[in-house]
Amino acid sequence: MKQQVGFIYLRDPVPQKEACFSFFMILCLFLTASCTSLSGQNKGYGKTEPTTSVTPIPTETVQPTKNPSLTPMEGEMRAKTPVEQNTNQPPGFKIKVLYDNYPHRKGLKTDWGFAALVEYKEEKILFDTGASGSLLLTNMKEMGIDPQDLDKVVLSHAHGDHIGGLQAILNSGGRPVVYLLPSFSTSYKAGLRKTVKVVEVKPEQKLFERIYTTGEIHGPPPEQALILDTTHGLVVITGCAHPGVVTVVSWAKNHFREIPTLVLGGFHLFDRSEAHLRWVLDEFQRLGVERVAPCHCSGVRTREMFAREYGGRYLEVGAGRVIEIER
Ligand SMILES: [Zn+2]
Ligand SMILES: [Zn+2]
Repeated sequence: MKQQVGFIYLRDPVPQKEACFSFFMILCLFLTASCTSLSGQNKGYGKTEPTTSVTPIPTETVQPTKNPSLTPMEGEMRAKTPVEQNTNQPPGFKIKVLYDNYPHRKGLKTDWGFAALVEYKEEKILFDTGASGSLLLTNMKEMGIDPQDLDKVVLSHAHGDHIGGLQAILNSGGRPVVYLLPSFSTSYKAGLRKTVKVVEVKPEQKLFERIYTTGEIHGPPPEQALILDTTHGLVVITGCAHPGVVTVVSWAKNHFREIPTLVLGGFHLFDRSEAHLRWVLDEFQRLGVERVAPCHCSGVRTREMFAREYGGRYLEVGAGRVIEIER
């Protein structure tokens, strides 16, 4: 299966034969780097139902591209640091989906909820923790992630399917700094402060180099999203997107003044009408969202519509999916 994903790398364990093929493809693409464009956008994906039997998808890599029809908003672009000019650096960001309704990698369990680990340089930030602590720890172990290695945990909003796994991390000896919304209950915050440092987020708060939270966006319920400020544009990671996924993406674009190159996470559209989904798709086009990876509470029909609309720029995401993004 071919998938044009620009500068985004989809990582899975691959058989030796396919790994060799991938290397050959990388070599070919490297030699023709500047000629590559975002084509082949009409290859839709089939329906994906939550099941436990999944065949890993081979690694696919392509060269960085820019969609010429998409331009950033007016205003000053966020400054880039000189180190980013070094093209010998490996892909910068890794997003590892650890907990999701949809399956991807064999061996990981699925459940209603969401958690994704973002790795950048030495930093490990867990965005949401799923509903079940034992399931989260099982999936983390399967992915080779030690709860004690987490630097930060960001809780998107106060629903159980996003905060339920946190206690298991603390019970495992993890002591991450927890970033939550000011609107979380006083008792919840006080309980956490007995064990870990708790930070009530502010708008556009920097969590690490090139990684931000939107801060609290009005709901109901209120929610925060994670922003990765890559050289190719913004990666927006949503928990449930209760304020509306269009609202969240608009917020990100307006505040960071860059193209939303990838929106990944729960879009919370599972119960919405086809007309509403059509409106969301149109708004995404208007906002210049280049790639989408709806999962968790997005809904099967939503995923199908986005897959049809975005073609090769639709990324199939579920528990165990690893996405690498060049800085
Ligand atoms: Zn929710
Ligand atoms: Zn949710």
